[in-house]
Amino acid sequence: MGIYQQLGLKQVINASGKMTALGGSAVHPEVARAMGEAGMDYVEISELIEKAGKLIAEATGGEDGCPTAGAGAGIAISVAAVIAGTDLRLIERLPDSAGLKNKIILQKGHAVHFGASLRQMVALGGGQAIEAGHANHVEEAHLRAEIDEQTAALLFVQSHHAVQKGMQSLETMIQLGRDHKVPVIVDAAAEEDLRRYVAMGADLVIYSGGKAIGGPTSGFITGRKDLIEACRAQYKGVGRAMKTGKEAIVGLLSALARYSQAAGHGGEWRDRAERLAQELNQLSGLSASVVKDEAGRDIYRTHVRIDERESGFSAKEVIRLLEKGDPAVFTRNHYANTGVIFIDPRPLHEGQEKVIAARFKEIWDNRK
Ligand SMILES: *Cc1c(COP(=O)(O)O)cnc(C)c1O
Repeated sequence: MGIYQQLGLKQVINASGKMTALGGSAVHPEVARAMGEAGMDYVEISELIEKAGKLIAEATGGEDGCPTAGAGAGIAISVAAVIAGTDLRLIERLPDSAGLKNKIILQKGHAVHFGASLRQMVALGGGQAIEAGHANHVEEAHLRAEIDEQTAALLFVQSHHAVQKGMQSLETMIQLGRDHKVPVIVDAAAEEDLRRYVAMGADLVIYSGGKAIGGPTSGFITGRKDLIEACRAQYKGVGRAMKTGKEAIVGLLSALARYSQAAGHGGEWRDRAERLAQELNQLSGLSASVVKDEAGRDIYRTHVRIDERESGFSAKEVIRLLEKGDPAVFTRNHYANTGVIFIDPRPLHEGQEKVIAARFKEIWDNRK
């Protein structure tokens, strides 16, 4: 019996992605072992954090790195770092930043909700989030007009959560940052490419450890040496409320080492998504195919379109029945209102595609 079933909780099959609501990632046994060992001994935390920073820098091409409790914490800490730097009096005063350079400029289509509000993470770090332009249309002039003496940084969100059309590119944001001598922070929480945004010239880049990398609940910031030093310094301030323990740091490093060695999994995911699509296509009133990630990452998912008239189910009804069953199956439901369910092969354990296909068939067979 699984550890969660011992607690009386039902088994969950995660076909939705790396979702915080389902526990992020299920780590590799090697990562779990590293975390267990880390938890059973002592270490000087400041040394561990510095060493972790060096390894993060190697894996990402940054000058230095800083482990965090997650990408949300990474945003708050990065913002605190660009506002307070390494000045202890300011660090201890945040998030009260009255009178300091505290404006964080972002595009309106980037003011996302990822399970919590990005603006709130900015506020936790003492930043005042200023949205430039419109939800679906931002011009360079909108951004330029918002940048003034009170601007502490520009923030770019690289994510499927963000509006993809009508926004200014990261290249433009970086150029604006250079022109006005303000740092550019990139929230790349779920991105697979750990080097790209640093290489493009971003000053701080934030990742989640529990998403693409498949690590434990954790995160990190990589980038410019002086700013990373300021990030670490925030652990004497607002960072303390988001402290990351030795187990999480060691688990993150272990996952990072495995991730850096692993080749792209795109092909394997495509095959699994393909097999599941074939099985599901045997049901009537449903058509399954394989599609690439909407944000262009090397991720393939099974796209299931439910024809309500022929199947007798709406997509939302299918989702409800899948989640209600035991094991409960959680799919990716951003497009449910258009009759589409996505199944993400990445978090599935071996053989769980078959369980999902069987659950669909059961639901179809039990139709009245
Ligand atoms: C998931 C996510 C976050 C938060 O990451 P955590 O590691 O869960 O704190 C922040 N920004 C974006 C764009 C995300 O997708």
